[in-house]
This record gives sequence, C-alpha cells and structure tokens, in this order.
Amino acid sequence: MAKPILLSVDDDADVLRAIERDLRSQYGADYRVLGSGSPESALDLLKQLNLRSDNVALLLADQRMPRLDGVHFLQEAMRIYPEAKRALLTAYADTTAAIGAINEASIHYFFMKPWDPPAEHLYPQLDDLLEDWQASHHPAYSGIRVLGTRWSPRSYELRDFLARNHVPYQWIDVEISASDPETKLLLETLGPEATSLPVVLFPDGTKLLESTPAQVAQKVGLRTRAQTSFYDLAIIGGGPAGLAAAVYGASEGLHTVMVEREAPGGQAGMSSRIENYLGFPAGLSGGDLARRAVVQAQRFGVEIIAAEASGIRTEGPYRIIQLADGSEFSCHALMIATGVQWRRLEAPGIDRLQGAGVYYGGGATEAISCAGETVYVVGGANSAGQAAMNFAKYAGKVVILVRGSSLSSTMSQYLIDQINETPKISVWAHASVTEVHGEMHLEEISVLCSDTGKIERVPANSVFIFIGALPRTDWLAGVVERDDRGFLLTGPDLVADGGRPKGWTLERDPFLLETNVPGIFAVGDVRHGSVKRVASGVGEGSVAVQFIHQYLSKVQ
Ligand SMILES: Cc1cc2nc3c(=O)[nH]c(=O)nc-3n(C[C@H](O)[C@H](O)[C@H](O)COP(=O)(O)OP(=O)(O)OC[C@H]3O[C@@H](n4cnc5c(N)ncnc54)[C@H](O)[C@@H]3O)c2cc1C
Repeated sequence: MAKPILLSVDDDADVLRAIERDLRSQYGADYRVLGSGSPESALDLLKQLNLRSDNVALLLADQRMPRLDGVHFLQEAMRIYPEAKRALLTAYADTTAAIGAINEASIHYFFMKPWDPPAEHLYPQLDDLLEDWQASHHPAYSGIRVLGTRWSPRSYELRDFLARNHVPYQWIDVEISASDPETKLLLETLGPEATSLPVVLFPDGTKLLESTPAQVAQKVGLRTRAQTSFYDLAIIGGGPAGLAAAVYGASEGLHTVMVEREAPGGQAGMSSRIENYLGFPAGLSGGDLARRAVVQAQRFGVEIIAAEASGIRTEGPYRIIQLADGSEFSCHALMIATGVQWRRLEAPGIDRLQGAGVYYGGGATEAISCAGETVYVVGGANSAGQAAMNFAKYAGKVVILVRGSSLSSTMSQYLIDQINETPKISVWAHASVTEVHGEMHLEEISVLCSDTGKIERVPANSVFIFIGALPRTDWLAGVVERDDRGFLLTGPDLVADGGRPKGWTLERDPFLLETNVPGIFAVGDVRHGSVKRVASGVGEGSVAVQFIHQYLSKVQ
C-alpha cells in the first residue's frame, strides 16, 4: 500500500522548501511528503489523490496566503480528507487568529515560524498528531472502484464481468449513495465526466469512462491477444470442458492457449452450488470451481486470453483462429468448447430491459441488490432451482414461474426438497411471462396463467430467466458440420451412414470427439448428443487430449 501523505502548503517558496526538508528527514521513511505553492493547486491535488484512494495524514498550511488563507484552505481540504490532521503555520502576529481557528475551524494545532530547532518545536507535536491519526484513521479502499447505476445494462455487464473474472472491485451506485459525502466528492471531482457512466477508477489514478469489459480486461492485465502466433493446442471456450482440456493438454507438454470471451467457468461459473460433482460432498460454487481450475491451468502454463473467437479457417495442417478484434493466431489442434447460451425469452419489452431488471442466468452480482425485494425466476430446471435458493438468501420473496403443473418433471428431487423447505420460495405453476413493463427499468410483468386463461400484471423489479440453452456456433458455419440446432457433430455422428465426412482426406475415421475437420475437436455442451453436466464436460475435455496426441503424432 502507498505511504500516507503529509502535504504542506505555502506561497513562500523558501519556507515551503524548508518545511518539506524537515518533514522528509524525520518522516520520509513512513510518509510521502508533498508540497504545494498555492492553496488552489493543493485543493486540486487533494481531489486527484482522493480519486486514487491515497491516504492523507497531515495538512500543514501557512496562514498568510493572498487568495485563500490557511484556515479557509484547511476548512475546504477537510471536505476532501476529513480524517487528515490539520495544522497551521503562523507568524507571531497571527497567534490570536490561530487560537480562534483551533476553536472555530476544527484545526488541530498551530506552529510558530520559525520552528527551529524542529526537534523541539515541530517533531514532538507532529508525532502526537500522526500517532492520533494512525490510531483512528480507516484506510481508504485502495482497489478498483466502479461508479454506475443499478439499472444500467452497461454497469451490470461490467460488474458481472469483473465478478466472474474474480477481479475485486468496489461498487458505488451513484443514485443510491448520492447523499454520501464520499460519493458526492467523487462525482464533483469527476465533473462532467461523471455523466459517462460506468466510470472505473483504478488505483494508479487512471480512469475509464463508459467503459466496456474489453477495455477493463486490458487495463487489469487480462490478456486480450495471443502472445505468440502459433500453439500446439488452442481451446475456444473456458467452461469446465475447455478448462479440463487446458489442464490436461498443458500438463502433458502441449503449448496451449485458451480463449474465453466472458469469464472462465462458463455456465458452471454461474452456478451458486454444484452438489453433484464428484469429490465435493458438501457441494461447491461454480465460481470456486472455476477459480481453482484457472489457477491449475495457469500453473501448467496455459495462456488465457479474454477475447471472442469470431472465425476459423484451415491452411494445410494449420487451423487459424480469428478473434473479434481482427487479430489471428494458428495452431495444429483446435478444440471447440463453447458450450451453450441462454435461450432468449420472446416477449415484448424483454430485449429493451435486459440488464435493467431482466437478466439471463445466475445474476450473481445482482443477488445482493435484490435484498428484501420480490424476485421472479423463470424456468423449472435445476439451474432455476439453484438460482432461487441463492436469491432466497437475500430477497424478501422468490417466485419460480413454471409453465407445467409442478417442478417434478424438470428439476432434481434434492433441489425440490430444498425449495419446499425454504418458506421464502413459492412456485407459480401454469405461468409464463407474456410481457415486461417499465420505462428506465423493469417495473411490472404480465403473466399468462394457462389454467385460467387470464393474464395477471404484477409489480416486479427483477426477473431472472433460465429457459434452456442453445449453442452459438454460426462463426463455425461452412467449416465445421453442425446439426439443425447448431450443435457440432463429432466421431460416430459423422460416419453414421458408413461413409466419411465430405472432404475428409485421412485413412482413418474421425476420432470419438473429432469434427469433420481433422484436428478440430468438440467437447462439452456444444457437442451434439452431449450430456449437459459439469462432470461430462470435464471428462470429454480430458479424454479429447488423448486423441489430440494421436492426431499430432501424424500431423506434418
Ligand atoms: C445455473 C446453472 C447451474 C448448473 N448446475 C449444474 C450442476 O449442479 N451440476 C452439473 O453437473 N451441471 C450443472 N450445470 C450444467 C453445467 O454447468 C454445464 O453442463 C457445463 O458448464 C458445460 O460446460 P462446457 O465447458 O461445455 O460449456 P460452458 O460451461 O457453456 O462454457 C462455454 C464457455 O465458452 C465461452 N464461449 C462461447 N463462445 C465463445 C467464443 N466464440 N469465443 C470465446 N469464448 C466463447 C462462453 O463464454 C463460456 O464461458 C448448470 C448450468 C447452469 C447454467
């Protein structure tokens, strides 16, 4: 953590130099000593220090300065750093004014000029003040701060990105905390820039306005481009299947890169509690599983890129991957592990209010914001059940909307039991959302009750949608064969009629998890016929690496 600051302000350059010299020689080891020749520039400096979350321990100001005297400067500075110790430097003639200031303007001490010898007239008193400060001050939050509003889709996207990538940050909702003096000051310091939300403030004093996850990724050191032009194995998608392939591939000596457009963990990363993954009898959160897998992969030297793959082509034995930013790299073996994404709910208002009360998936970052409110969860599968259990920790009430008559045909019994034992959760059967309403954010939803044929309109702040998922594989069209829903065909699917895939040139059939292009494999939920489970994704990702070794042993 940066050293706390001692700031002295004096318009007389000689006096300023002398006080800085004395402060530095006595306190330089533990504090950063700064000086300013005018109260106005000192106030600007304090605002900038505050943006960077620096701590200021002492403000020492000369009383006689032409445009703003010491007392008034210290009063202004107190708004920015209320905890800093405030002291005046005065001439003998100003003693009475200084004593008055101590009483009236909350100034902690005054020093008389000249202060020689400092060991007698300066340090003992400053030691006292600084000890006091050390004992009582609360260090400012020194990490990344995100300023935005709860109902802004862009703020939501950014917070979700940071949370899922395990980047710690402090969230400041500028509407909710508008009257908080610290927020007020931050907004005032940002001036007109405060309207370019979300604003991200970094500890090094830099900031990003209207920032996107990609910009923040770059700034926080997540790689967004490949470091080299060629890899033995490239994996697209960092869910359980991709992460398992990365760990096995790299641990077995393959130069491996993994491209993930949102956050490692994939769908599993959204799960609040995975209870059926072998070896974790008490369950574990998807975020935890993802974090451990990322550490494991990195330990074996996997390069992880925060980017979206947008195209592929083949050139002889090379498989070339294009990223959304236009950059490219190539590899010998390519593994597609892009899983599935939530199916959209087709209803008026849904697209407009997405991120502003309407969310797809777990909404881990939103759960806390829903404290005390009623939360609607749409869907009857395990993912909806897990989310309902998670929201029940914070929300006042959770309502699961299901089209069928109950959860029993779509959800595991262990989750149904947990839901039945949670009084905050209720199930609204025969119900489907037909429209969502609200100007700036979600305010109401219309629900069709299929048993009565009636539409009910109820107040709602948050709806979380879990209605099945589909792969998004358009970017592979024309190269990799897909079924009519976009899932990738592999191994036996491609030789079902006894022949080999069109354009296949090798003497062997495609391997079990290989697509119609030699050296391009598909694993996990994106694969046609896959079992949609964490363990099966992990299994496929691991097994595919064996086929990759066989493929690489023959590739020219
Ligand atoms: C809320 C929830 C709870 C669940 N609970 C359980 C459970 O308790 N037990 C269980 O066994 N299973 C559970 N599942 C299912 C399980 O999570 C999935 O089967 C598993 O995550 C599939 O892994 P995957 O690696 O194939 O794909 P995914 O997990 O879908 O990961 C695919 C990754 O690829 C990335 N990606 C996609 N396209 C691109 C691209 N073009 N460029 C770069 N990256 C891309 C995505 O961002 C994503 O991170 C749950 C799923 C959900 C949603």
